Amino acid sequence: KKFVYSFGGGVAEGKADMKALLGGKGANLAEMSMLGIPVPPGFTITTEVCAEYYKNDRHIPEDVIPQIVEGIAKVEALVGKKLGDPADPLLVSVRSGAALSMPGMMNTILNLGLTDESVEGLAAKTNNPRFAYDSYRRFIDMFGSTAMGLEHELFEHALSAMKTERGVKLDTELTADDLKELVIRYKAIYRAHTSPSHDFPQDPKDQLMKAINAVFNSWMGKKAREYRRIEKIEGLLGTAVNVQAMVFGNMGNNSGTGVAFTRDPNTGENVFYGDYLINAQGEDVVAGIRTPEPISRLQEEMPQVYDQLLAIREKLERHYKDMQDIEFTVQEGVLYMLQTRNGKRTGTAAVRIAVEMAREGLIDHQTAVQRVSPDSLNHLLLPRLDPKAKERPVARGIAASPGAAAGKVVFSAEDAVHLHDVHPSDPILLVRKETSPEDVAGMNLARGILTSTGGKASHAAVVARGWGKPCVVGCDALVIDEEAKQASIQGHIVREHDFITIDGTTGDVYIGKVPTVDPEMTGDFATLMEWADEYRTLKVRTNADTPRDARRAREFGAEGIGLCRTEHMFFEDQRIVDMRKMILADTTEARVKALNDLLPHQRADFIGLFEAMDGCPVTIRLLDPPLHEFLPHDDSGQLEVAKQLGIPVEKVRQRVAQLHEQNPMLGFRGCRLPILYPEIGDMQVRAIMEAAIDCAKRGVSVHPEIMIPLIGTVEELKILKERAQALCEQLLSEAGLSIPYLIGTMIEVPRAALTADEVATEAEFFSFGTNDLTQMTLGLSRDDITLFMPTYLEKKIYKIDPFQSIDIAGVGQLIEMGVRKGRQTRPNLKIGICGEHGGDPDSVAFCQSVGMDYVSCSPFRVPLARLAAAQAAL
Ligand code: PEP
Ligand code: MG
Repeated sequence: KKFVYSFGGGVAEGKADMKALLGGKGANLAEMSMLGIPVPPGFTITTEVCAEYYKNDRHIPEDVIPQIVEGIAKVEALVGKKLGDPADPLLVSVRSGAALSMPGMMNTILNLGLTDESVEGLAAKTNNPRFAYDSYRRFIDMFGSTAMGLEHELFEHALSAMKTERGVKLDTELTADDLKELVIRYKAIYRAHTSPSHDFPQDPKDQLMKAINAVFNSWMGKKAREYRRIEKIEGLLGTAVNVQAMVFGNMGNNSGTGVAFTRDPNTGENVFYGDYLINAQGEDVVAGIRTPEPISRLQEEMPQVYDQLLAIREKLERHYKDMQDIEFTVQEGVLYMLQTRNGKRTGTAAVRIAVEMAREGLIDHQTAVQRVSPDSLNHLLLPRLDPKAKERPVARGIAASPGAAAGKVVFSAEDAVHLHDVHPSDPILLVRKETSPEDVAGMNLARGILTSTGGKASHAAVVARGWGKPCVVGCDALVIDEEAKQASIQGHIVREHDFITIDGTTGDVYIGKVPTVDPEMTGDFATLMEWADEYRTLKVRTNADTPRDARRAREFGAEGIGLCRTEHMFFEDQRIVDMRKMILADTTEARVKALNDLLPHQRADFIGLFEAMDGCPVTIRLLDPPLHEFLPHDDSGQLEVAKQLGIPVEKVRQRVAQLHEQNPMLGFRGCRLPILYPEIGDMQVRAIMEAAIDCAKRGVSVHPEIMIPLIGTVEELKILKERAQALCEQLLSEAGLSIPYLIGTMIEVPRAALTADEVATEAEFFSFGTNDLTQMTLGLSRDDITLFMPTYLEKKIYKIDPFQSIDIAGVGQLIEMGVRKGRQTRPNLKIGICGEHGGDPDSVAFCQSVGMDYVSCSPFRVPLARLAAAQAAL
């Protein structure tokens, strides 16, 4: 069996579509080599070997070894140097590379092949002892810390101590002799801290096997597992290992290294975008330690290399038909490509690139629609700083990932995690010198990230962009004192938990909390949405309770309201007073009186909704929550209500006690309310119909849909529907109008789904309330999962939070059955979903597959749902 795939010299054994086997990096190195792009020769050990490695108790299977030896021989032949040759050694890099990119999460070892002997050869051959010893000490450090698990700090301290002894500040000021001495110290550290203690290996083949093991081990390292958990990466075999001839960007001022994107990954603009460093090794750019130069300057510094890069940029985009993220190194004026992959981008960039590539003829409309992940649209729907805000920025860094974020400052990822544990709803802003893969958990919790160093390709920038989080990097006006947990920016002192606002679109940093405004749908975004609509068959509605939300959703393309939760209308000013009067009423007459006071408010609300949704259906749900939710539970609140209503506080207390339920979500709520108190339902139905009549008279096109919540039997629906229908007919005939209206039900109690054929004899439409349906099917209180859901997800008891994405295996069966049985009775039954899942792309795809007519989601998710629906239809 083939375990090792070689590449280099214009040929390759693998190719780009073998990512599952060769990892992204290996597959694309092979592809580039075949395209005739200069790539240092090397080979890829497959991800299958990684899987075998773990099955084999962390040992590389025997039959792989000869293929590795053969791979090395091919590299030696192409480069014309031999591994371990004391006169002129071949040096190699050993890097991880899984099928999906996991930036910085796994191990890399450079300069492998250096020994006490071969370092002399390298020094002589390059006529550069300083370079040779610098490479050797870096190798000992990387090998020690990644393959042997030593603390990287041990080596860092030795380096700092040496600089102090020599009275210099920069690494580059150390001489060849200093570095030679440092190598001796590094080797002593290595010997002292390995257990069982042993000398730094002097056999390159031994070094190589240990390095390969180290890369495989890093697949199951804490960082990598954490990253896969957050990014929901599952089902991969493991990582591949790429062993490749070293090229050096640190051989003087005609050498360098850089990372670039074929288009701007923030905005999507069609410009060459990236950074490079002269006389540096690759990790220096990514680590954000030195601040790199913009790629455009390379045109002046190395014009030929720049032109060659431009040609490669063009070739790669034409070949891959997507934006590429590339890494390159220039060794003494000669360009080598070390990596290409589809570049991570912000949602804004994803949309612009898809639309522009379609216009350039690289891809078609359908591909453009499929190319943008619905979740990435969140990025275009991020708040921006209010242009009218008066605050002035105090500093400007590099705009690394757009959107505005205001939050409480923390200076470490652990503090972010801590603050989140104690105050889960507090907005967090992570402020650091730079970030590293250890910080991802805290970064994930932060609203935004601000660093004082690093460039556009630094860890913070890449990760934030991937997550669509606002991020500003390289803000050198920011001086952080991590110990003291404070920072200063241009003379302003910022302490832990003070507010800072960042604008990741401009790079501006503000002290305090700056107001933000909502986004709009224009330009490329609107174009992509139009293209999506050409393919979409599901309709998209919104869950909205106010005319303002309804209008916004319509701007985002909503085609109606799928759920108006009327209870949300009862909490304001006078309404809550009338609502409480109604709840505290002793007699039907008193209740009716209070309801009559509520009626004009409700009617006005519905008029506003109908006007905002002129021409579109509006589904209004009758009151749903348990009544106690409208009464205060604490003494002072109850006193106040008593005073307001002019009744004894005892009475309020009694009613609260009477309404108390062990299990309110399964108690006196939903359709059970109007079954007991029909006058509540009457008032709401009257408000809906009178509003519709009022609008219709003024020429507004109204399509009311009255929705009865929480039914479990057709009898409940029958009683309530008959009563509502009678009232509607009476009002319409009084008005002398005919308005098309429907009376339907939510399907959110499992029994309603199981008996959907019966329910459909009465229901004129179904709307799946997947929040309650999930709660009741899984026996999981939707309000009480925070304690155990994280553990459940970690242990993969659920793959995804079932309140976020439909539990297809369980709840999905009920939905499928509900749709099927409902249409058995009423073939044209209109069916939708209005639970939170209506805005989740996977759930939208499921809704399409069972044949629903529409999904309904919150206004800001409407564009996501449109795109997800288009993708589901393709
Ligand atoms: C549902 O249960 O899915 C639903 C939409 O209703 P609510 O969330 O208001 O209970
Ligand atoms: Mg519900």
